[in-house]
Amino acid sequence: MKNVETVLGPVPADQLGFILPHEHLLVDTYDVRRSAEGVLLELATMSDEVADYKAAGGNTIVDQTIYGLHPDPSGLAEISKATGVHIIAGTGFYHQQYYPEWLDGWSVTQIANRMLGHIVDGFAGTGIKAGIMGELGTHHRGVKANERKVLEAAAKVQAETKRPIGTHALFTEVGIEQLNILEAAGADLDITLIGHCDTNRDIEYSRKLLKRGVWIGYDAVGQLDKQRDELRAQTIATLIGEGYLDKILISTDIAARARLKIHGNEGYKFLITKFLPLLRSAGVTNDQIDTLTRKNPQRFLAGK
Ligand SMILES: [Zn+2]
Repeated sequence: MKNVETVLGPVPADQLGFILPHEHLLVDTYDVRRSAEGVLLELATMSDEVADYKAAGGNTIVDQTIYGLHPDPSGLAEISKATGVHIIAGTGFYHQQYYPEWLDGWSVTQIANRMLGHIVDGFAGTGIKAGIMGELGTHHRGVKANERKVLEAAAKVQAETKRPIGTHALFTEVGIEQLNILEAAGADLDITLIGHCDTNRDIEYSRKLLKRGVWIGYDAVGQLDKQRDELRAQTIATLIGEGYLDKILISTDIAARARLKIHGNEGYKFLITKFLPLLRSAGVTNDQIDTLTRKNPQRFLAGK
């Protein structure tokens, strides 16, 4: 299987083991949210959280923290060294609220060149390369002009690099609009993921996406303000029954202090300790869980 660029260098995809494909380890949303909740900065604390995930059976975390969320690839490398957990860094721009003003004047090509640089040459002065474009977001009530440019740029870079794309699509059917833009710009849907599909509780939305051949993320597991986990598990079981096992990715999208072990919660092991039992109760077999948590994300991250 192909190599995946981790923050410590290339690793064969089939050696990545158990994967959380959409998370945040070092992230800072204070500028937009004005809350301490989305500020995860301490390397020692976050290393401890990641070590706890490893002790529960986890092997790899994809950190989809990108421009606007204050990504720290060097910090990720430190956490990876300290814990032995593979970490994959993202590149791109989050969504309009988090964009810099200068992005207004940037062309699709300029945006593409920035992402391409992170994938091919690495983040400035670090030697660390991005392994995914994402999470590339849009407003849930419709894609804004700059957000469209970022999606088009990602499709362009993907054509050249064969690296995966992950999006951020909350609540509505905006993921379909994202998919339309990405597909028209030439994205390869085998390595393209519409994220946060479980924040829209209508299973029809997931079906519409899956019928087009794109990956869907049920990656807000544990976020009970968006959907109950029992319903998430049942919906996943239903979609597996309809033949979509090979296009579903699951994760917990942690970017909040309250969810961490240090605050008395499950942290990054939540999916293993709390959600897999719900999947089993919903009738998902251990083989299918193996596909959801290992084979699927390995294949997605491997690119083409
Ligand atoms: Zn997101």
